[in-house]
Amino acid sequence: MFRLTNVLHAGAGALELQNLTANAKGSTQRRISAADLVDFGLCPHRWVTAPDPEDPLVAFGPPLPEWLAWAPTIGQNFFAARPATYEARVLKCPNCGSKGPAASCTKCGLRRQNTLVVRNWSTGANYCQQWEEQKQALGLRVLSARTWESARLGADKLNGDPHVHALMAAGSPSQMLLGTYTDPINGLVVPLWAWASFLPEAEGPKGQLVGRVLETANADPAQWERSVLGRGLHLEAALTMSLLNSEPSNNRSKYVWAVLEKAEPRLLARRLLSNEGLTEGHTRLQELLATYAQACAAGTWPNFERVGADFQDAWRTADIADWLTGGAGDHGGYLAPDLVEQGV
Ligand SMILES: [Zn+2]
Repeated sequence: MFRLTNVLHAGAGALELQNLTANAKGSTQRRISAADLVDFGLCPHRWVTAPDPEDPLVAFGPPLPEWLAWAPTIGQNFFAARPATYEARVLKCPNCGSKGPAASCTKCGLRRQNTLVVRNWSTGANYCQQWEEQKQALGLRVLSARTWESARLGADKLNGDPHVHALMAAGSPSQMLLGTYTDPINGLVVPLWAWASFLPEAEGPKGQLVGRVLETANADPAQWERSVLGRGLHLEAALTMSLLNSEPSNNRSKYVWAVLEKAEPRLLARRLLSNEGLTEGHTRLQELLATYAQACAAGTWPNFERVGADFQDAWRTADIADWLTGGAGDHGGYLAPDLVEQGV
């Protein structure tokens, strides 16, 4: 049984994200996400023993373009862009322009004057080092000017898309959902969280929708389908909906992604999870939660390597994935030959 316990706005959500690793994995107090369940499902031993990220906000939170697009003050409270240049004061001769630490130019015999020059940012320069230390002391993550510009471009793509913008504006964007799952067998209460980039007002015309902004290397439709299965994003959709729909006022039935490519030009794609995908997500989510509750209660976190003594058991065969050979389309799942032939 699912229960929604709290919906945090972007700022409170950002703080809560940083607290996620306060309880160790494997503890019944640890608040987990669908991504945790997927990783647990792949190998419980790896999930429970893998170190937590140094920065949970960056590792678990929404991508920077989402902050910059819809919660710019949060973005500025947690991130700072390193400038491309800085101004340095130097002593410069008014006649020949020579610069140096000495107060006078020996060639011209004139006093050098205090002048401002623009220099490229340098981690070796005192001014730049002090700037970074000040930002870090304020708890800011310092990013390169280029990374920031790329995130800015991503934010512009999100805000510039009429469909994405309409969905964002239909409610409060960037909300963190907190809730629980109570296992019907052993009664264990598992604390859960999910992120909703889009959470339109439940009573409004878009009230059946919920979704997320995610970054990916390749947003092409076939690649995205594989990402959904590989990353278990349909489980995340199912978890988000299960938490929301535990409230009688909610009746969410459609899950969408605004998919932003990581590399420039930062292509933006819109994807809707099929009903079959959602049903499958609910089935896998239930299975994994039940297994997780069992593992948590027993403190048992098995590894995927079998302990068998003979060769077949000890060395498992690695095969070529079906989609590479007989996948959808005439070219084994590769889209380009079809598209070129059709002249798209
Ligand atoms: Zn001079």
